[in-house]
Amino acid sequence: MSADYLLAMWDLKCLWTNEVKEKEALKLEPALCRDIGIIVSADYLLEIWDLKCLWTNESAVYRSWENVKFNACYYSIIGAGVIGSCTAYYQSQNDNVEITVIEKTQVACASSGKAGGFLWSEGDGDFSRASFRLHRELAQSLNGKERYGYRAMTTYSVTVSNTAQNNGTNDTVPPWLYQEKVVYCDELGTQKDTAQVHPKLFTQTILDEAIATGKTKVKIGHGVTELIYSSQDPTLVTGVLLDDGTTIDGDRVIICMGPWSGQFALGNKALSSAVHYLPVNATRAHSIVLKVDDDAPIGAHALFTEIKDNDGKMQHPEIYPRPNGTVYICGEQDVSEPLPKSADQVKMDPAAIDTLCHLAKEFSLHLDASQDHLVTQQACYLPNSRDQNPLIGKHPAYKHLYISTGHSVWGILLGPISGLIMTDLLLNTSTNRVPQSCLTVLSSSVRFK
Ligand SMILES: Cc1cc2nc3c(=O)[nH]c(=O)nc-3n(C[C@H](O)[C@H](O)[C@H](O)COP(=O)(O)OP(=O)(O)OC[C@H]3O[C@@H](n4cnc5c(N)ncnc54)[C@H](O)[C@@H]3O)c2cc1C
Repeated sequence: MSADYLLAMWDLKCLWTNEVKEKEALKLEPALCRDIGIIVSADYLLEIWDLKCLWTNESAVYRSWENVKFNACYYSIIGAGVIGSCTAYYQSQNDNVEITVIEKTQVACASSGKAGGFLWSEGDGDFSRASFRLHRELAQSLNGKERYGYRAMTTYSVTVSNTAQNNGTNDTVPPWLYQEKVVYCDELGTQKDTAQVHPKLFTQTILDEAIATGKTKVKIGHGVTELIYSSQDPTLVTGVLLDDGTTIDGDRVIICMGPWSGQFALGNKALSSAVHYLPVNATRAHSIVLKVDDDAPIGAHALFTEIKDNDGKMQHPEIYPRPNGTVYICGEQDVSEPLPKSADQVKMDPAAIDTLCHLAKEFSLHLDASQDHLVTQQACYLPNSRDQNPLIGKHPAYKHLYISTGHSVWGILLGPISGLIMTDLLLNTSTNRVPQSCLTVLSSSVRFK
C-alpha cells in the first residue's frame, strides 16, 4: 500500500465522516511532511491512524473504514511449505492485499511435500477439529479428491509380531495385512474423523489458488537472509533482504519457514541489538513410497503400527495407502544429522531406509520394497516448538513481524486453520471458525522467546 494511496483514503474518510476539526488535525502532519519533502511511510501513517482510532474510540467508523479498503497492504510470506501456502491462500481471499511468497528452494520441497498427509480431527484438540473441517470444505470447493488425493479413511492401531501367532479370527484387521501376524488391532478413527491428502499436491494446489486470485506472487530460488528494520525504529520490520541482494518491502512479514524458523536470526545486526532466535528445533524423519500392483486389494486404511525390527528394537512405522496406487510409510525421528542450510541439502541415512523397506514386507504381501516398487526414499525435518504446539501470532518484540511455525507432526492437518488465524490477525478481523481459547495459548508471548 503506498503512502499516497493511504493519504487519499485518509482524505476520503475525513470527508465521509465530516469531522472538520479532525480532518484539519489529521491532515496536518502528512501535509507538513509533504511540504518539507519528507517521504511518509505507509507504516508511519498506519501507526498514526491506529492512534487516532484509539483516541476517538470510534469503533464503528473504524470497522466501516476497514471495509472501505483500509487493509490494502503488502505481505511478505517467507517459505512456501504448507503453512506459508495456506496463509497466502486465506489472505488472498480478501480485497486489497498484495502477497509475495518467497521460497528458497521449491514449493513443498521439505516436510510439506514429504509428509504422510494424514488428517485426524482429534490430532490436536479443538484446533485440529476446526482444521479438519476446513480441509473437508476445501476438498469440496477445490475438487480435492481429483487434485490432491483427498479421501476419508478408516484408521487402525496394529501390532504385528513374527513370533506370536494370532488365530486369525479378528475381523477388524484390514484384509490386506498378514492376518496371522497381527496380534493386536483396534479401530482408532472412522471415515468421519480421519482422512488424507497428498501433501505436496495439496500445498501446490492451495498456492495455485492463491496465485489465481491475482493477489499472490511467488518468488522461488532465493532465500531471505535477513529482515530489514526501520532506520528510525530498530524494532520495526519493513521488509526482507534476499540472498541475491534484492529487497522486498512488506507492510507485514510472516515467517513460515518450518524448521528453518529456528535458525533465522532476528534483530537488527547493524544496530548491534541482541540477535536472537525463535524457539524451534528440528528432528529428522525418513519415509518411503511403494508402488503396489494394480490388483492389490489395499483399502483406505491408515495404520499406526508397532513391530520389532531385526535388532529387537520396537519400531512404529505409519502406513498410509494413497488413492494413486502407492503406499507411504514413515519411520522413527532422529537428531543424528543437524538441519542443513536448505531443503535440497538434506541427507538420508541408508540404514533408516533399509529398516523401513524391511519392516514394510512384514505387514503385507502387497508391500514389496524391491527396487521396482520403491518409488521414493526421502528424509525431511519436523519443526518443533518447546511444547510441540505451533507458534502462531504477532512477534512480541518486533512490530509488523508475524510467526506461524512449529507445527511438529501436524502441519498438514493444521495448515488451513493456521492460515485462517494468521489472516484474522493480519486483517484485525475475527472469524468464529477459530477457537479463541486455542489462539490465546498459541500466541502467548512467552512462547516466542
Ligand atoms: C515424516 C513426516 C511425516 C509427517 N506426516 C504428517 C501427517 O501425516 N499429517 C500432518 O498433519 N503432518 C505431518 N507431518 C508434519 C508436517 O509435514 C509439518 O508439520 C509441515 O509440513 C510443516 O510445514 P511448514 O510449512 O511449517 O514447513 P516446511 O514444509 O519445512 O516449509 C518451510 C519452507 O520454508 C523454506 N525456507 C526455509 N528457509 C527459507 C529462507 N531463508 N527463505 C525462504 N524460504 C525458506 C523451505 O525451503 C521450505 O520450503 C509429517 C512430518 C514428517 C517429517
